[in-house]
Amino acid sequence: MNNSIDFEFDKQHIWHPYTSMNNALPAFGVASAKECLLTLDDGRQLIDGTSSWWACVHGYSHPTIIQAMQHQLSTLSHVMFGGITHQPAIELSKKLVAITSPKLTKVFLADSGSIAVEVALKMALQYWQGRNQPQKQRILTVKSGYHGDTFAAMSVCDPEGGMHTMFGDSVTQHEFVSAPQTKFDQTFDTSELDEMRAKLESKHHTIAAIILEPVLQGAGGMRFYSPEYLIGLRKLCDEFNVLLILDEIATGFGRTGKLFAYEHTQRHDQIVEADILCLGKALTGGYISLAVTMCSDEVAKGISDSPAGVFMHGPTFMGNPLACAAACASLDLLAENEWQAQVSAIESQLNDELAEAIHFPEVKDVRVLGAIGVIEMNSTVNTAELQQQFVDLGVWIRPFSNLIYIMPPYVISKEQLSQLTSAMKTVAKNIIVSDHQASFISHG
Ligand SMILES: *Cc1c(COP(=O)(O)O)cnc(C)c1O
Repeated sequence: MNNSIDFEFDKQHIWHPYTSMNNALPAFGVASAKECLLTLDDGRQLIDGTSSWWACVHGYSHPTIIQAMQHQLSTLSHVMFGGITHQPAIELSKKLVAITSPKLTKVFLADSGSIAVEVALKMALQYWQGRNQPQKQRILTVKSGYHGDTFAAMSVCDPEGGMHTMFGDSVTQHEFVSAPQTKFDQTFDTSELDEMRAKLESKHHTIAAIILEPVLQGAGGMRFYSPEYLIGLRKLCDEFNVLLILDEIATGFGRTGKLFAYEHTQRHDQIVEADILCLGKALTGGYISLAVTMCSDEVAKGISDSPAGVFMHGPTFMGNPLACAAACASLDLLAENEWQAQVSAIESQLNDELAEAIHFPEVKDVRVLGAIGVIEMNSTVNTAELQQQFVDLGVWIRPFSNLIYIMPPYVISKEQLSQLTSAMKTVAKNIIVSDHQASFISHG
C-alpha cells in the first residue's frame, strides 16, 4: 500500500460522517495510533481526546487485543452464524451475561450500534405479538436522545435535533416526552415523571417499549441526568405493561464511572433492570465494529411465542468471530479492574482543570461525569475551524453543535489529560461565535 495520503481523491470520492460532497471539510490523515497518540501522515502526533467516539477505552494498538485478534484471524476470521456456532461468540456471550444485570440472559450479536437498536425495537414489537397484544407498535422516548442513523433508530432520536423533518413520512412517528431535567447530582422531584405518566395513561395500549440512554444523553447534547429518573421510569413501565430498553451504546463499559450507567441507581439502593439492553462502541475496545442486544427470558419467550415463531433478524456478519475475540480481550482487560481507578482519577482531574472555564464569556456550562468532560458554549461552534485549532495545539478533539467535549482513553496519563483540558480552555476562551453551522444534531 502506498503510504502517502491522496487527500484530493478522498475529497472527491469518499463520504465522511455528516459531510458534503460539494464543500468537503478538511480531513486529517492518520498513519498509525498507539496508546493515546494518533500519528498523522506528516509525522505530527496528537493526544486523543475522543477514544474514537467512545470506543477505544484501552488506547490504540493494545498488545492484548491485537494478540487475541491475530490469533482469531489466523484460526477463523468469519463463518456464517446460521446453523453454526463458535467459541468466541459463546465466550463473549457468557461474559456479557455475567456482567450485566441478572435479568438479561439472551444475547443477539449485531454488527453496529444502530443495528443493535433496530434489533431492540423489533424485539419489543415481536414480544407483544407473542403476548397477544399486536397493537402495541409505538415506541415512547424522551427528547434530546440519540440512538443511531438507520431509519428505526432515527425515529427515536430527538425530533427537532434529529432527522425527522428532513425525511418526513419515511420516518415512523413515535411518542415523545420532555427530556429528563434533574441534573445528575440534584435532588429528584418525582413530578418530573408526570408527563411520562400522562402519556402512558392515554397511550399504553399502543406502546410497546420506552427507549432511552441511561443517565447520559450523548450525541443529543451530552446531558447528564438523575439516576432516580430511571427508578421512577422502571416503575411506570411495570405499571403500564411497557418494556424498558436501555441504550448503553455510548455509556457502557465504565465510561460514566460505573461499568454500566444504569448501575448509578445503586446510590438509591436498587439497580434498575432493563428488559432489553443495547451495547456497542467500547464493546471491542474500539478495534472493530460489534454491538449486542440483550434481553430477558420473558422477552425471548414472548418473541418465540409470536406468530412468526422466531426472531426475525440475522445479518450476514452476525457473531463475527474476529469481532467477538476482540470483545473478549477487551472485557478481560476491564476485568483486571484498573478502569475504576483510572476513570475516577480522570473525573477528578477534569473537575479540577475544567472548572475555571465557566468564567469564559462564551461558556454556558461545564460538566464532568466519569471520564467525560464537557464545555457547553452559548452557541454552535464552527467544527472545522476548531478542529484545526486543536490540531495546532497537538490534540484530537472534535466538537459538535455547541459542545467542546472529551472522553479520552482510560489509560491516558495525567500530563496528556492536562494537555487536553488546557487545549479545551484555550479554544473555548478565544472562541469567535459563528452562526453558519448546520443546526441538526450529529456526532459527526
Ligand atoms: C453511537 C450510538 C448509537 C449508534 O451506534 P453506531 O455504531 O454508530 O451505529 C446508538 N445509540 C447511542 C446511545 C450511541 O451513542
